[in-house]
Amino acid sequence: MGETDLYPCVPLEMSADRLDDLVDKAKTYALMHGICMRRKDAFDTDALHFAPFVLFPSPFPRKEFNKAIEIQTILNELMHKVAHDDDFLRESLKNTIQVDDFTGRLFQLYDKVQKHGGSAQVIEAGLFRSDYFYCQANKGLKQVEFNTIASSFGCLTSKLVDQHKYVVQEAGYPEHLKNIPENNALSGLANALVNSWKLYNQPKSVILFLVEDVTYNICDQKFHEFEIREQCPEVFVIRKTLTEIGNRGKLTEDKRLIIDGHEVAVIYMRCGYHPDQYPSEVEWDARFMMEMSLAIKSPSVHYHLAGTKKVQQELAKPGVLEKFLGDKAKIESVRDIFTGLYSLDKDEIGNASFQRAIETPEKFVLKPQREGGGNNVYGADIKPFLEKIADSDERSAYILMDMIEPPITTNYMVRPGEAPLLAKCISELGIFGYVIGTKDSILENKQVGHMLRTKLSHVNEGGVAAGLGALDSVYLVDASRCCLN
Ligand code: ADP
Ligand code: MG
Repeated sequence: MGETDLYPCVPLEMSADRLDDLVDKAKTYALMHGICMRRKDAFDTDALHFAPFVLFPSPFPRKEFNKAIEIQTILNELMHKVAHDDDFLRESLKNTIQVDDFTGRLFQLYDKVQKHGGSAQVIEAGLFRSDYFYCQANKGLKQVEFNTIASSFGCLTSKLVDQHKYVVQEAGYPEHLKNIPENNALSGLANALVNSWKLYNQPKSVILFLVEDVTYNICDQKFHEFEIREQCPEVFVIRKTLTEIGNRGKLTEDKRLIIDGHEVAVIYMRCGYHPDQYPSEVEWDARFMMEMSLAIKSPSVHYHLAGTKKVQQELAKPGVLEKFLGDKAKIESVRDIFTGLYSLDKDEIGNASFQRAIETPEKFVLKPQREGGGNNVYGADIKPFLEKIADSDERSAYILMDMIEPPITTNYMVRPGEAPLLAKCISELGIFGYVIGTKDSILENKQVGHMLRTKLSHVNEGGVAAGLGALDSVYLVDASRCCLN
């Protein structure tokens, strides 16, 4: 396999029989515990495939994992404040919304809500996930992005921890279990929705999951429903699309959102982050109705805007964190996880970044204002891409980011219908957290769990839903016990 940077948690050389046995056990565990997705090859609502996973938990440096956990409530607070700073959002996004249609539409929606007197609901719930790589060059944690909408895999990765513990035991390494941290993302995220529902304080009201027409990542969502029922037997969950809300939803005089006879207390958006999810004005009208309503949104449109890549880049500018976080130690700890983020606007600073990207494209990732994977431009593709838009204002639709190089490890990737693949891999850590609050006060601010996603080391993007990555768990390593010194 050649050199890797982090040793796998167990030796991977094993006989074909032993590998088959472990893979079979792991697959069976996944299928029987719902670590699954809908089939993409042949759509069938009566059957599931296990979600792609790696056979063993992947190593992640303990100190940096703990740091990611600790910093989450500071990031929650930061993003809550950013979302409520009208001047900052307006200034940060002013060029981007001229050239990026989708962000422009979201911003129009934000303006329209304000012009109509604002949302009837002052409470909002942000269910967040902050994503990181361990950066080899800096020997530290670096943030990839901060998700404020539809953050997924909290549930499946919570369950995968138990699968990995089982597999590690079956492989004969029970002493390693202590290095696999517990993961309560599912109960934490469900708790955020239940607590929001309680704050709405209307016994017959429901929690609405905003969903796509077809949901492939169905188990991750459904387990939230089951968990909500466990935590709070009296609440019902309904699932609706934007189109359904647009066609059948209505607001009462006192702005209660009613659909199909249900009063909606909480809207949990697992959809609505991509332009394709708004095929007509019906869906935009639905979003406006949701925003204006008394329902508690997760997220509301200003949280959605705060999660754009452009805002992430603006936050990394000198002096900006100071505006939002008073405490010096908090500011330092957040600044420490930022890697280089650059505007490409047509001004002096933007031109300098533009030039550097053309000269050394391998050092950067070029990002549009999109979510869901598969949208970024990498390495050799950056130069021709930028040259095409060099003289256009379209440059403001993108941000530039330093390429982070995480350590390489080895693992077996296991996918439905394929033989396990022994491969060099890299892993991206995500930390889940939530905030419930109003503009002026935070009622709850929590870190609730984590996820790990692992992809082949030579692949630029490794979305699990997109079929390029695999679900993973964390195996904590200390610098002295791995080859990172
Ligand atoms: P999305 O909203 O589409 O998930 P991301 O910013 O998370 O956008 O980028 C998608 C993927 O691209 C990440 O999961 C990661 O694998 C890769 N990526 C993003 N930014 C960087 C970076 N700065 N360095 C290396 N890889 C990156
Ligand atoms: Mg991402």
